[in-house]
Parts: sequence; C-alpha cells; structure tokens
Amino acid sequence: MTTVDTKEVKPWRMNDQSAGTWRRVRDRIFHRDLGRCQPCLKIGKFSRAMKIEHIKPIAHGGGDEDANLWVVCRRCHVVGLQRAALPTQVGE
Ligand SMILES: [Zn+2]
Repeated sequence: MTTVDTKEVKPWRMNDQSAGTWRRVRDRIFHRDLGRCQPCLKIGKFSRAMKIEHIKPIAHGGGDEDANLWVVCRRCHVVGLQRAALPTQVGE
C-alpha cells in the first residue's frame, strides 16, 4: 500500500501566512525608520512614509529581509514601482 503525502502546501495557505508575516515586518520597518521616507531623507527632505518598499526590487534579485526594506512616501513609491517594473515591461 502506498500512502499519498497530503502535506503539500496549499498556495492560499502560504499567502495567508505571508500576509500575517508581512504585517509584522511592515510594523517593524515603520518603527525602525520612524515613519519617514528614506529616499527623501537621503537628500535631506522629510516626508511622511506611506509604504514599505524593497530597496532592491524582488524582480532584480532583492530579498524580504529587513536590510532590503525601507519606508517611502507616496511619490517615492511610484518612482520605485516604475523602477521595479522596468525589466518586465515586455508586451505590456
Ligand atoms: Zn520620498
């Protein structure tokens, strides 16, 4: 008799878990960066951060570790999205 391994991971389960983890990460990064947009801070500007973003986009080989995350304001977020979308712009 062969037993089927039913412990395969369901994609929706994984999404559930990573959504919870992501919330915790987001809180941590916001606190770490004091809710200030980091790209703006680099050029001496103080903007209230709205979003968490990957410093090096996933599409460019970036990871989900804290060191690759920072908080950005709305304007910087849009710029970041455009940057991240660059390599996947084929066929729109
Ligand atoms: Zn900014």
